[in-house]
Amino acid sequence: MTESTVSTFVRDLAPAYRAADETAAGGAHEGAELVSAEDGIRALLRAIGEDPDRDGLQDTPGRVVRAFAEYCSGYAQDPVAVLRKTFSEVSGYQGLVILTDIDFVSHCEHHLAPIVGKAHVAYLPSTAVVGISKLARVVDAYARRLQIQERMTAQIAQCIEVGLAPRAVGVVIDAEHGCMTLRGVNKRAPRLRTQAFSGELATDPQMQQRFFDAIAASS
Ligand SMILES: [Zn+2]
Repeated sequence: MTESTVSTFVRDLAPAYRAADETAAGGAHEGAELVSAEDGIRALLRAIGEDPDRDGLQDTPGRVVRAFAEYCSGYAQDPVAVLRKTFSEVSGYQGLVILTDIDFVSHCEHHLAPIVGKAHVAYLPSTAVVGISKLARVVDAYARRLQIQERMTAQIAQCIEVGLAPRAVGVVIDAEHGCMTLRGVNKRAPRLRTQAFSGELATDPQMQQRFFDAIAASS
């Protein structure tokens, strides 16, 4: 991949990358904000016709707020730093590195409903490779935010691009969206596939097919 290809790729993704991070308020908050968040959940319970003071619901607002702090703990993580810490020399390795079926749970920013799926990541190393657990951590850090699947796909690809400067990157995500299945829009739980490619994975159909074959073989 040429430098200009990389910079174009990064520039194209940058607005989405910033949109997610600028709205992130820097991780979990404390004190007055947590109390007002719990008040918000109580108001929601009243709005759906519940009594937030009945026995079974008294601790629910606190639980919901703590759960969402966990679901959204990725805002406090720096995924690019995860990759920078652990790179090593490729020692002549020339092939694609493919990691399939990275399970994740995210939440959609439109309904706060769960997005449950698998991410598949491939890259063609230039000078650096990274432990596979680090790729899974990158996926997790972006999943634990309010997301749309398209942006999450682009962010993971951009992170690997920036962190490893590889010759090519591919990210494919297959996921079910709770806002469709839970609301009865479609009971058969269709899966949405999104993908982002750069470098030779964007331009070489055979290389791309090897990645798709690996995904198909694993699922
Ligand atoms: Zn949604």
